[in-house]
Amino acid sequence: MTIDETLNLLRPNIAKLQPYSSARQEFFGNVAVLLDANENPYTLYDEIPEINRYPDPLQRTVKAKIASLKGISANQIFLGNGSDEAVDLIIRCFCEPAKDSIAIFAPTYGMYSVCAAINNVSVKEFYLDDNYKIDVNDFFDNLSPEIKVVFICSPNNPTGNAQSIEAIEQILSQFKGIVVVDEAYINFCPEKSTIDFLETYPNLIILQTFSKAWGMTGARIGLALAHKNIIEILNKVKFPYNIGIPALKVLEEALEKGSWSSNIINQIIAERERLKSEIERLPFVLKVFPSDSNFILVKTTNADSIYRYLLNNMIVVRNRSREPLCENCLRITVGKPEENAKLIEIFKSFQP
Ligand code: PMP
Repeated sequence: MTIDETLNLLRPNIAKLQPYSSARQEFFGNVAVLLDANENPYTLYDEIPEINRYPDPLQRTVKAKIASLKGISANQIFLGNGSDEAVDLIIRCFCEPAKDSIAIFAPTYGMYSVCAAINNVSVKEFYLDDNYKIDVNDFFDNLSPEIKVVFICSPNNPTGNAQSIEAIEQILSQFKGIVVVDEAYINFCPEKSTIDFLETYPNLIILQTFSKAWGMTGARIGLALAHKNIIEILNKVKFPYNIGIPALKVLEEALEKGSWSSNIINQIIAERERLKSEIERLPFVLKVFPSDSNFILVKTTNADSIYRYLLNNMIVVRNRSREPLCENCLRITVGKPEENAKLIEIFKSFQP
């Protein structure tokens, strides 16, 4: 698809939207006197002296840093209040309520369906195969014209595995709609990123986040990466000041430090494999699925009773056994070595 064909998919009201404009959007840099935004000229919080001001609506300083880190242009980056904000915006921009649909590959991250439901957009569920891979032929055989956006989560939550780059490219090149590739966990398998496809496919929107490998969940900062004209639309539709100054400051500091996260990622991956081999030996565990992320999906003999037992022992995991193709499955996040050791110790005393 060309960028013009991609932009033709927009809801007509969004395509012609006159966005809110603020003086701060037109003005960037150091100015002596700011009397445009009805702010309090005094700051009462010394740790962040500029907290009395609205933040830069386009987050230009951090975007320049993210752009050089990822080898793309700053105008290909949208920053959201978590990547969840981008999920909602994409559905709102491209799907006409009560008319259009999104497609998902179940089991997958729940917010795609929740955001669709909030927007009165229906969800067509395709199913992953026995190895939790996308069946591309099944997708194209059962496509219907009202499907405007397809969400591919890779690595997938809750199954943990990444999809093959070839399967994703086949969908990108043949599907006449928006392809969202949610790469929330991509730092745990960077070789499986679709970021190099951005130049070729204007219908691609990649979601990433600072909530996982970067360890900044509480800051609430997510990314959408796409063609600059798509990013322009997301910026038009978002709330003007969607990322606050404290979050931007923390992000700037983290981006400056940069390299610390790769050591942590390697440690989490090593710990994941150690945890996997220990859990596989437990008598009530039927299978630990291969993972490209920072969690593992574990098929047990009785997920509900194991979940309750862990809770009684002050350990919280995620019971995913009500999800399609996840019968009796628990999703377990890789913790610190001592937390994982505690989990194994408690697991060993479980009486099925
Ligand atoms: N995508 C996936 C696949 C996730 O698992 C999550 C969070 N669990 C998100 C997106 C949302 O992340 P954020 O914190 O950036 O909103």
